[in-house]
Amino acid sequence: CGIVGYVGGQSALDVVIAGLRRLEYRGYDSAGVAVLADGGLAAAKKAGKLANLEKELSDRPLPSGPAGVGHTRWATHGGPTDANAHPHLDNAGRVAVVHNGIIENFAQLREELAERGHELLSETDTEVVSHLLAECFSASGDLAEAMRQVCRRLEGAFTLVAVSADDPDVVVGARRNSPLVVGVGDGENFLASDVAAFIAHTREAIELGQDQVVELRREGVTVTDFDGATADVRRYHVDWDASA
Ligand code: GLU
Repeated sequence: CGIVGYVGGQSALDVVIAGLRRLEYRGYDSAGVAVLADGGLAAAKKAGKLANLEKELSDRPLPSGPAGVGHTRWATHGGPTDANAHPHLDNAGRVAVVHNGIIENFAQLREELAERGHELLSETDTEVVSHLLAECFSASGDLAEAMRQVCRRLEGAFTLVAVSADDPDVVVGARRNSPLVVGVGDGENFLASDVAAFIAHTREAIELGQDQVVELRREGVTVTDFDGATADVRRYHVDWDASA
């Protein structure tokens, strides 16, 4: 339902939680975050309101790193439980993915992954993406390229945002039939399903086009299509009043 991603000099956890709060008006049934810190990936996710997640984070604080992702979920596949909440990780816990939308061909992909020895831990359509992304990433060593390879295999509607402990300077995103906007900052960059999530930090934005992948680093943003061809980006200024 709502997605936030961040890379930069602030605490990713703080930026992501504040962003999720700005997206609460859309309605959701669960919330979760994953941040890169200390060479690993730390995640927390909870069914119910953002307050439940914040309680969990105050009981079991996460380390605060320079990149992270967050999600508010509106369940379509699998009930609103802690296990089905996003982010979804691969079995090694090195890749975390959040997703809006529906992966139509998830059942076939689940079967294929199970045959290759992956253990799927949720009932969501989303979880196949974290496993596929981890496989492609370990083969190519390039998270954006891995995201392009995975997107070419997916059917349906999706906004995806992912991070990996093995490429801690990068956040990647992708979209088809579901919105994703980049917030362009100074030494920091944002990804969100809605500009409301980052408007407190920057009003410079790039709207991703259909079937595009974005690689976000502190110092820049690269956009391609699903085949890797560089895409033209159109930057715009968000001038509506965000306090409304
Ligand atoms: N289909 C996914 C799920 O049920 C994502 C739902 C959403 O857009 O929040 O977990």
